[in-house]
Amino acid sequence: MQNNKEMEKEGIGKKVLIIGHKCYRCNHAWRPYDLEEAPRVCPKCKSPYWDRPRQEKKRR
Ligand SMILES: [Zn+2]
Repeated sequence: MQNNKEMEKEGIGKKVLIIGHKCYRCNHAWRPYDLEEAPRVCPKCKSPYWDRPRQEKKRR
């Protein structure tokens, strides 16, 4: 038998993984009001490329 109670605890209390966005530039993580609608810029560093790696090499 697996410990289902531990599963239920996940997401509540300590060591909670916040479901949100994290900026690639400044590593700033935040939780938006609406997860489906991502902000255009990072609220901290105002970078429009917060959701992308710094240098994305395009091979094409
Ligand atoms: Zn940022």
